[in-house]
Amino acid sequence: MSKLNLHNSLTRTAEPFIPLHDKQVGMYTCGPTVYHFAHIGNLRTYIFEDVLRRVLEMNGYTIKHVMNITDVGHLTSDADEGEDKLERSAREEHISAYVLAQKYTAAFIADLRKLNVELPHVMPKATEHIAEQIALIKKLEEKGFTYRTSDGIYFDTAKLPDYGKLTNLKEQDLKEGARVVVNPEKRNANDFALWKFSPKDVQRQMQWDSPWGTGFPGWHIECSAMAMKYLGETFDIHAGGIDHLPIHHPNEIAQSEAATGKPFVRYWLHGEFLRLEKERMGKSAGNILTLSELEQKGYPPLAYRYLVLNTHYRKPLAFSQEALDGAKSALASLHDKVRQMPETEIGCAEFEQRFMEAVNDNLNTPRALAVLWDLLKSQYPDGAKHRTLLVFDKVLGLGLADIKPIHAPKAVMDLVAERERARQQKKFGRSDQLRSEIEQLGYLVEDTAEGSVVKPRT
Ligand code: AMP
Ligand code: ZN
Repeated sequence: MSKLNLHNSLTRTAEPFIPLHDKQVGMYTCGPTVYHFAHIGNLRTYIFEDVLRRVLEMNGYTIKHVMNITDVGHLTSDADEGEDKLERSAREEHISAYVLAQKYTAAFIADLRKLNVELPHVMPKATEHIAEQIALIKKLEEKGFTYRTSDGIYFDTAKLPDYGKLTNLKEQDLKEGARVVVNPEKRNANDFALWKFSPKDVQRQMQWDSPWGTGFPGWHIECSAMAMKYLGETFDIHAGGIDHLPIHHPNEIAQSEAATGKPFVRYWLHGEFLRLEKERMGKSAGNILTLSELEQKGYPPLAYRYLVLNTHYRKPLAFSQEALDGAKSALASLHDKVRQMPETEIGCAEFEQRFMEAVNDNLNTPRALAVLWDLLKSQYPDGAKHRTLLVFDKVLGLGLADIKPIHAPKAVMDLVAERERARQQKKFGRSDQLRSEIEQLGYLVEDTAEGSVVKPRT
């Protein structure tokens, strides 16, 4: 059997995956900031992480998957400046920040379900882990990694010799990459807030007492505190979008490793962005699309999942309506075929092996889909194909197991076969005549690149 290889951002190479504890894998993925609906760009990242989890499962590992819910502390600028996104949206929507967080967390989970994303085993909220975050900051303070400014407690990145090892960027690069507005009280440009004091002029809804003053946690500390609480001080896999590579993830590493003196995470994986006509999709750019909007336009959520699977996660995905149309019809044709397949016990081992090789090669889902279409075109009996498609679907999650088979009567299937032969012999008049006979029996026949497909007339 092929071995799983994953591209590790820490070493910048594809490496064999070797977990810390035999068959148990701890995995943490950065979750949403629940101040708005997730956009389809965000959802691309969660689909990539779902594939990662499903491939690990297919390799026989037992996963503990933790994904945080950021419901406080993520400011409008990633450089610890600006307003809290939750507080701002709550004001705009005239509801409490807690109700707002609940509303968008529920919407997010509903999106994940529609996309067949397996739900994380633990989804801890930042606001429910304030004590853990304070304890971690205290530990950093005791070890001399923190300092105080007029607006908060900061992490001193100069105290950690390998700060930024994940990206290998110099301070200047990081600074520019992040478009950081330099706070004159910071000792180093990359230093970041661990605890922010509540501003004097604005009444915050979400704030807590701490040894340093009333305030709220910085954006990065929640991930370190909650990851270590649920997965231990060192764990196997951490994933997120590529935007987290220069700031958020180096800061998670810095806080955690400074506190424990141990390596935080062994494998870091980053998914590339979805772009709209060469632009990055983002709420601040005002060009977001949600899954519900796609549904309203007639695209099933799984068509979007198919589109995402068709591009490797380390490549940018240029979103377009044409590409989504293509994904929608490919998925519909796949579902049509599965609907007509009989079920059997024995699959096509050769194709299952090819599929496994593709996904184990750093989650190469475009190649895995190519294997799927090759299987459909192969000479194997339909029953065997069906069995193997269900194996593939454990990773692809395209809803194949939920498809109800059509059992068209033999008389219909005989006419379909006869029509197929007529078409091959280019006897189109005869083939049209057979089509209307099939219709009279209550069925429709459609021609696809892989042969004819029969459906009941509705
Ligand atoms: P946020 O809710 O802003 O914290 O982002 C949630 C997740 O979506 C993070 O893992 C981001 O890296 C990811 N993300 C944001 N924008 C995009 C995009 N256009 N394409 C893919 N992933 C994205
Ligand atoms: Zn995080």
